[in-house]
Amino acid sequence: MHECSIVQEIVNIASDKTREYGPQRVEQISLVVGELTGFREEWLQFYFDVIAKGTAVEGARLNVTYVKPQMQCSACGMLFERERFSFDCPECKAPGQMTKIGSELYIDTMELADSPLPGILPEDPDQVEALFYTT
Ligand SMILES: [Zn+2]
Repeated sequence: MHECSIVQEIVNIASDKTREYGPQRVEQISLVVGELTGFREEWLQFYFDVIAKGTAVEGARLNVTYVKPQMQCSACGMLFERERFSFDCPECKAPGQMTKIGSELYIDTMELADSPLPGILPEDPDQVEALFYTT
């Protein structure tokens, strides 16, 4: 998926959320971005500034937290970061499987200018995550 459509979704969801709290300026939107998405913070901000113009979230700063991809061991269930040239569990050496960790992109929290409200979470985080999965 292209940055443009992702950012459009972020603007839509964040604007809807903001309206629930009345007309306030949004200072910051914290995003969780899996490294597998390939999305860079500066590009997301660039598109955001353009797309958010005239919306409830105009002028907000994006704060991106990156998530490293993780695999899960098929035998012992351990989550681990893949080593180069290896898919094996560092504990028991059984083959690991890809997980969704590392390909997510969702809004974590939003901060409003007047009353900082960290933790305005989407009602159903699973649903929102699913919206943004790119793999
Ligand atoms: Zn294992």
